Amino acid sequence: MSESKSAAIIPAIILFGSPGSGKGTQARLLRGCLGSPHISTGDMLRTHIAAHDAIGMESEGLIKSGRLVPDEVVNEIVRERLAEPDVQSGIILDGYPRTLQQARFLLQVAESRGITSAVVHLVVDYDKIVARLSGRRQCPVCGTLYNLLTNPPKVAGICDREGATLITREDDRESVIRERLREYELQTAPLLEFFRNAGVPTFEIGGANATPEEISGKICESLRTVGMMRGRVVNGALPRA
Ligand code: ADP
Repeated sequence: MSESKSAAIIPAIILFGSPGSGKGTQARLLRGCLGSPHISTGDMLRTHIAAHDAIGMESEGLIKSGRLVPDEVVNEIVRERLAEPDVQSGIILDGYPRTLQQARFLLQVAESRGITSAVVHLVVDYDKIVARLSGRRQCPVCGTLYNLLTNPPKVAGICDREGATLITREDDRESVIRERLREYELQTAPLLEFFRNAGVPTFEIGGANATPEEISGKICESLRTVGMMRGRVVNGALPRA
């Protein structure tokens, strides 16, 4: 289908933050209230790994060791995903972009498709992150995240919704967590300045002791100030942050 220049602006919410900062949890909550699709490059790469295809084979070792998958691979899966029709209602990006090259690519593709971005930076102290990630469990069917300490399932080891046995991601082992945090500091954290310089509205959302719902409420309030709630951009443009 051809891309229409006259189509309404499509909001992209970029959930930004270190591994374990709650991007996946917030993406699911926002999806519930906005109805926009949740695009997680980590989930997409894990689907390729499960399918044993070429992208999966290239990514598996890197992910297991906490390193980033090459930009060309990730940019291509995002480019394909952004061509799907459900993107018209807006998108929630989780774990992308993670490098300068990815950020440049996203803004370029976004511009050509009428997508307008805002960054939500989830700020969590590093000492909480390792404990959070090593206690994390996920449903392999619906993707719901649990935490053994703060958000356990009703029945130990079983997803409340699907009844499936919960899994621990291999990259949630402590040595791998440290490598992921290192990659974040080196490659991803500097993007905040890039986004600010590019005039993309950027919101810092703290609250390590707040509930996921309280944090989601703060995100919605921030997005409302730039007209990005309910999937609409007010007056056809976003003000600079
Ligand atoms: P987290 O944000 O908790 O690290 P993700 O599921 O987003 O978890 O990512 C898991 C892994 O997938 C990353 O450590 C990395 O190896 C790979 N990955 C995900 N998104 C990207 C990306 N945008 N660029 C490069 N690698 C990525």
